Amino acid sequence: MRALTIAPGQKNSIQLEERPDPQPAPDCALVEAVALGVCGTDMEIIHGDYGWAPAGEPRLILGHESLGRVLEAPSGAGIATGDLVVGIVRRPDPAPCPACAAGEWDMCRNGRYTERGIKERHGYGAERWLIEPEFAIKVDTGLGLLGVLLEPTSVVAKAWDHIERIGARTRSWRPDRVLITGGGPVGLLAAMIARQKGLETHVFDRNETGPKPGLIADLGATRHGGDIASLKDLAPTVVIECTGADEVVLGVMSQMSGDAIVCLAGVSSGGRKVDFDVGSFNRTAVLSNDVVFGSVNANRAHYQAAADALAKADPAWLARLITRRVPLDRWREAFERRDDDVKVVVDFGRL
Ligand SMILES: [Zn+2]
Repeated sequence: MRALTIAPGQKNSIQLEERPDPQPAPDCALVEAVALGVCGTDMEIIHGDYGWAPAGEPRLILGHESLGRVLEAPSGAGIATGDLVVGIVRRPDPAPCPACAAGEWDMCRNGRYTERGIKERHGYGAERWLIEPEFAIKVDTGLGLLGVLLEPTSVVAKAWDHIERIGARTRSWRPDRVLITGGGPVGLLAAMIARQKGLETHVFDRNETGPKPGLIADLGATRHGGDIASLKDLAPTVVIECTGADEVVLGVMSQMSGDAIVCLAGVSSGGRKVDFDVGSFNRTAVLSNDVVFGSVNANRAHYQAAADALAKADPAWLARLITRRVPLDRWREAFERRDDDVKVVVDFGRL
């Protein structure tokens, strides 16, 4: 089979190479790849800034946003031949820590978790892969290729789950106005869930042209461009920060008001210093019971919530998120950034 592999830590080592087919294992399902989504983490891994190969191996099979069709599954596994499935990315650490022991590997406490296509486990960027049935999520067959959006949706489903749990510290808490910063796939999917919850939704994104303004408008959300400081009177009760950009993170943290919950969901590169009025931040946060928290990854319950959210969404809107579908033979194009990209997927030609 063909697989997309990289040598971790080596810039631009990505290649499509011939690998032996996975050996069927009695407790695993064998899956043929249908599509693979490309995200910022993949680009960091390709640049040599992130990623770890499995112990004792020089290369890592890339890819964590999967969609595949089951070829064979153990009986009683809950998935069967022909099902469309998405593989969960993270696996609990071997210790396991109390979080992993409770199935909440997204909250792993010791950092010894592994992740397919990212950390010490081969990913889903191969024509065939094995999956333990308990780490496979069945996707509504009607979704077809759109099922590849399940993994990024799981990340925002987790963010929403934690926002609501934090909100529940106040019995009267009802979110009304939501601000999402960043109109990439994660921001747009976070906004989609906000709209499914019936919330007034604002998206801060500087793109005036391309597909993003239309995608935001068609959710029934309002787009804001320009400077984040211009949103200081918006007073959202929930902010989901998806850019990781210093000035945007700073903007949302300096503008919190009235029991706001700010979820930081974008990863910054770090290393740049900016002016930040710690005293004002502290004063506002204390006096209005604000919360700023970080959110990463997702556990099985979040993948399930994401599957439900995708099933409820308008398929025509979801289809517009996938702005390029690159055949495996032309895989290099999938890892080039283009102006109007939202989500790019590698298409394995099996749908
Ligand atoms: Zn753990």
